[in-house]
Amino acid sequence: MEMFKGIGVSGGVVIGRVFVLEDASDRHVPKRAIGPDQVPAELERFAFARKKSIEELNKLHRAAEAEMGSEAAKIFLFHVGALSDKAILDPVRTLIEQDWLSAEYAVQHVIGQLAERFGQHPDSTFQTKVSDLQDLSDRLVGHLVGQRRTALLDLPEGTVIVSRDLTPSQAAAFNRDKVIAFVTDMGGRTSHTAIVARALNLPSVVGASHVADAASDGMQIVVDGDRGVVVLCPDAATLDRYRGERERAQAYALSLQDLADLPAVTADGVEIHLHGNIEFPTEVPGVLASGGTGVGLYRTEFLYLTSSHTPMEHEHYEAYRTCLELLQGRPLTIRTVDLGADKYTQAQAAVPERNPFLGLRSIRYCLQNTAMFKTQLRAILRASAHGPLRVMFPLVTTINEFRQGKYLVRDAMEDLADEGVAFDRDIPLGMMIEVPSAALMASTFAREADFFSIGTNDLVQYTLAVDRTNERVASLYNPAHPAVLRLLRDVVRAGRRYEIPVSCCGEAAAEPEFAALLIGLGLRTLSVSAPGIPALKRLIRSLTTTKCERIAKKAIGFDSEQEAAAYVRDRTRKLVPEAFGGRAVDEF
Ligand code: PEP
Ligand code: MG
Repeated sequence: MEMFKGIGVSGGVVIGRVFVLEDASDRHVPKRAIGPDQVPAELERFAFARKKSIEELNKLHRAAEAEMGSEAAKIFLFHVGALSDKAILDPVRTLIEQDWLSAEYAVQHVIGQLAERFGQHPDSTFQTKVSDLQDLSDRLVGHLVGQRRTALLDLPEGTVIVSRDLTPSQAAAFNRDKVIAFVTDMGGRTSHTAIVARALNLPSVVGASHVADAASDGMQIVVDGDRGVVVLCPDAATLDRYRGERERAQAYALSLQDLADLPAVTADGVEIHLHGNIEFPTEVPGVLASGGTGVGLYRTEFLYLTSSHTPMEHEHYEAYRTCLELLQGRPLTIRTVDLGADKYTQAQAAVPERNPFLGLRSIRYCLQNTAMFKTQLRAILRASAHGPLRVMFPLVTTINEFRQGKYLVRDAMEDLADEGVAFDRDIPLGMMIEVPSAALMASTFAREADFFSIGTNDLVQYTLAVDRTNERVASLYNPAHPAVLRLLRDVVRAGRRYEIPVSCCGEAAAEPEFAALLIGLGLRTLSVSAPGIPALKRLIRSLTTTKCERIAKKAIGFDSEQEAAAYVRDRTRKLVPEAFGGRAVDEF
């Protein structure tokens, strides 16, 4: 039995079987062990990857020879030769046959060691071959991982995906009938992969360092998404304890369902609007079933993340219209595509950005790709004829960005009017508040925006300079930091002064303690993933706004973020212990 501690990003307890997912673009393949009975199949996989690579390299050699002459094409012959070299083949086979390790690990390890020796060789002929060896390793691993991708189509029920890292689009694409949880070595609480896991209601733990190296296919695994604990090969006593935990968590989830039809009104009679965050139209029924009364954030970039081509206007339009139809008159807030940072653009780029979270992302990316942006804006406007729809721009940092976004909406309106297409001319145009510059200048923005939605996931990241996807600094990521609270307070005040609605759609809103704090700061609309809505409703119905205001006032006055967080957590737990019923307090 082996236990790992990570960050629980989606609650619940499951017991399942491991599938280790390697990534071809990752220069560190997990050290996946295989069973002795799998050795022949693994050798077969290696032979197949070698054969495929030789075929490809011969083709490349012929093409290069025709275009550049035989001297330049010679390099591909070196690659083909290396694939018959005993100095590579023998140790790879030994690692598979005697050490029972996966073919992709064996290839990467053996060629990696050879490249290291070449790099240290005094003769520069050897040194120049280092990148060729790396290339060769990537090619073989690419084929091997490709084979594993096909295995993904045929997973048994109860599979837990274990991986070094997962992209949001990978997480969104798994077969939901078969995959019951995710575990990764890397990642933070508000990474988009974590958000997808929550939206799918799959218990998940990220930042559980080295778990991917220790796990192997078919191993029994416990994933405790509440405590952020992963157990490989649990012993009988641990299994028993977690079976009990699983039942308790299921009973709690069931008890919350009774609240779905009750209003989200505080004990002193103040209505709090609870909306859902979605990535796909298929999530709308889940939002409604959980008691949500609208969609406060539709992350439309997931249209790009799950498509093999750039989505066309009619695909955007169909997605938005479907949401409105499912919502039956309830409000829908569409966020224009928020690509960049950990989503999409780096994987597509010939030269990835050095610092993508501070790079060409969100509204900046859209304003530099106006044809793509206008395709989306036209689709949103066309959909606005079918129900109450609001548009918001992500990551606005300057007033000019907001104005340019608005200008492009007006431009799309004129085009549609000329074409005689129906749309809502009064469609509210708002913005996310998720960088300090926008929060500090909220009064300026409030004069021009129809509404604000606070994105704490990014606001915390940019205010505290803590990468939201990096497990190494996860303990510094703290939405209760007084600096963040002061920004939130000022944004709410600006909204009040200029009489525009302000909501919060960051993940902090789904944490009972932060939700109480947000209500205390004056927020009356919270938008969270569907599975978080029932617990939030229980909290709201047990609290008064006066108590929340007292919590907020005290928290904002602390010097230290740790004291503020501890105070908010303890106070909320004391006031409404039942709101924490689904999450365990103790550690095993
Ligand atoms: C946020 O930043 O809080 C937010 C809601 O947007 P996303 O998580 O998609 O960046
Ligand atoms: Mg954001």
